[in-house]
Amino acid sequence: MINRGYYGEFGGAFIPEVLISTFDDLVDAFEKAKSDPAFWQEYMHTMSTYSCRPTPLTFAKNLTRHFGGARFYIKREDLNHTGAHKVNNVMGQGLLVKRMGKTRVIAETGAGQHGVATATMAARFGFRCTVYMGEVDVARQRPNVFWMERLGAEVVPIREGTGILKDAINEAFRDWVTNMDDTHYVLGTACGPHPFPEMVSYFQSIIGKEAREQILEREGRLPSRVYACVGGGSNALGIFSGFLDDPVELVGVEAGGEGLDTGRHASRLASKDGSVGVAQGYKTYFLQTGDGQMKKTHSVAAGLDYVGVSPILASHRETGRIRFEAATDSEVLNAMSLTIRKEGLIPALESAHAFAQAFKEAPGLSEDDIILINQSGRGDKDIFTIADAFADPGWQAFIRKKGYDYGA
Ligand SMILES: *Cc1c(COP(=O)(O)O)cnc(C)c1O
Repeated sequence: MINRGYYGEFGGAFIPEVLISTFDDLVDAFEKAKSDPAFWQEYMHTMSTYSCRPTPLTFAKNLTRHFGGARFYIKREDLNHTGAHKVNNVMGQGLLVKRMGKTRVIAETGAGQHGVATATMAARFGFRCTVYMGEVDVARQRPNVFWMERLGAEVVPIREGTGILKDAINEAFRDWVTNMDDTHYVLGTACGPHPFPEMVSYFQSIIGKEAREQILEREGRLPSRVYACVGGGSNALGIFSGFLDDPVELVGVEAGGEGLDTGRHASRLASKDGSVGVAQGYKTYFLQTGDGQMKKTHSVAAGLDYVGVSPILASHRETGRIRFEAATDSEVLNAMSLTIRKEGLIPALESAHAFAQAFKEAPGLSEDDIILINQSGRGDKDIFTIADAFADPGWQAFIRKKGYDYGA
C-alpha cells in the first residue's frame, strides 16, 4: 500500500489499518473502471446530458484588445451544473460508487461547493448523503447549507478543533472507518491518500482534453501559457493534463491573501512558507509550524485556503514542469472587476486568481501568443462573499436588514 501512488517523494497512503481493505477495494474498482471503455463512455454521456459538457471555450475579445498583445481564451467550467468544475469529479465518483454497489456517500466541505455538488450527485443517483462541515464554515456558508439540506443531505457541523475544513476531513474519515461496508468517501480535490489524487485528476482531465481540442480547432496552434487557480489542485490538474507533454507553459496560481511577506496567505508552493510533511493520509507541502501544527490560512476565496496541496502538483513543482505564483486579494478583486466589465463574465473569486496572474504577465507577451485561463467556477452564486469583498455598502445594509450574518 505504502509504495503505491507516489509522485516523486510525494503522495502515498498513510491510512489506519482498518481502512486498508476499503482502499484496496477502491483502487481495484477504479483500475477496472479505467480500463473499461464503457465506463468513460457512461461518464461522458452523464456529463453531456446532465452538466453541459463539453463546456465552451470563449475568446475574450475585449480583454485581448485591452492588454494589446496576447489572445485571451477562457475555458468555461463555470457553466457546469452546480456552477463549478467540482461536478466533474463528483459525478465520476458517483458512477464508481454505483459499480461498487454502495448506497451511502459522505463528504467534507469547506466553502460548501463540494458539499452541494456531492448532495446533488447523491440526489440524482439515490444515495444517502452526509456532509461534514466545520461549524465556522456552516455559519459562513449558510446558502450552501440550505441547498445541501434541500437536496436531502444531512449536514453535520463539526465543533472539534478550529471548526474548519481540516476538522471536517478528520470527522469524515472517522465516519468512514465505522461505515466502510455501505459508504464511500467522496473526496473533493486531488489530495488525500492514494488513489484519490489520481482518481480526482482522472475525472478532471476532461477539462484539458476538451480545451486542447477546442483551441487547436479555433487557432490551429497551442496556447503559450495556461493559467489555473490552485486550492487542492483539481481544476489546475484537470486543464494542465491536456498540455503536459506539449511545449506550453503551465502556471498554477495560489492565494496570496494579504501578501506573501505578511504570513496571511494560503500559498504552499509559491511562497517559502510551505514545508514537506505527512498529514491527512498523504505527503505533500503543508502550511505548518515547526512541530507540525497546521497554520491558519487566509484568502478572499474560501475554496483556496486549504493547508495542503495535491502531491501531483508538489511533484511538478520539484521538476519545474509547472510554475507556481500567488495573486493577492486586492489583485484578485481588480481582475474580477475588469473581467466583469470587459467581458460580462463573472468568475468565482477562486478563478479570478488565474485571471489576475494572467493580467500581470500579459503585457510581456506578443500578438503571436495565446493565453488560456480556466474559469473554474461562476461568481454570481457567491454573492454574499463577493459583495462583502467589494465592500458594497448598499448590499451590506440590505443583508443586515434581513438579519443575515454573512460572517465577514
Ligand atoms: C473548490 C474550488 C476551487 C479550488 O479547488 P481545486 O481543487 O484547487 O480546483 C477553485 N475554483 C472553484 C470555483 C472552486 O469551487
